[in-house]
Amino acid sequence: MTFQDLNIVPPILKALAKENYTAPTPIQEQAIPAVLAGRDLFGCAQTGTGKTAAFAIPIIQLLSGQAVPPNAKRRIRSLILTPTRELAIQIYDNMTAYGQFTNLRCSVIVGGVSQKAQESSLAQGADIVIATPGRLIDLMNQNVVDLRHVQIVVLDEADRMLDMGFIHDMKKIMAKLPERRQTLFFSATMPPEIAKLVQSLLTNPVKVEI
Ligand code: AMP
Repeated sequence: MTFQDLNIVPPILKALAKENYTAPTPIQEQAIPAVLAGRDLFGCAQTGTGKTAAFAIPIIQLLSGQAVPPNAKRRIRSLILTPTRELAIQIYDNMTAYGQFTNLRCSVIVGGVSQKAQESSLAQGADIVIATPGRLIDLMNQNVVDLRHVQIVVLDEADRMLDMGFIHDMKKIMAKLPERRQTLFFSATMPPEIAKLVQSLLTNPVKVEI
């Protein structure tokens, strides 16, 4: 199986070749077609399986394929929630690499650093926002982030977000998103609370277990 077999578009194929990705990993083989088809996804996978690219590649493909007038203000069309600053930066770096031959713009919203640069990055316009829940809530409370146009949301390492006490923030953020949207949910474990979240947030999801 190749990325070409998964119908990945040329600008992304070029980026993957540049990153020396020769073949999709098992989770990518299963997840990419489901996400491209617009399905919700529940992925039970650990870090190291290639799960970041499993959601990042199809999100970039879906968004870069949408016709946006050249001078239109960029709107946040995808939101990725992840538990830590380090993971957020890693996802940002990967997204930026896979999307380097598209015109998509990514922003990172994380705590522990000044808010100013993040605010100005949002003000310049971003198609994809990668965030930790706490700082995103801060910015939402200040009305500097508009989530009304999000089409695809990712909950990455949802079990860790739960363990870190982010359940309240996660629910608050999800409640601000459009009801009609695609939801991708990743968790390495399936405690009852995660099962409940999956039940409430996902519609007829494709399940991928690695
Ligand atoms: P992740 O599970 O998303 O943390 O990815 C683990 C590592 O595998 C990262 O360093 C990725 O850059 C790398 N990776 C992901 N997918 C592929 C692939 N298809 N081929 C080669 N490396 C990959």
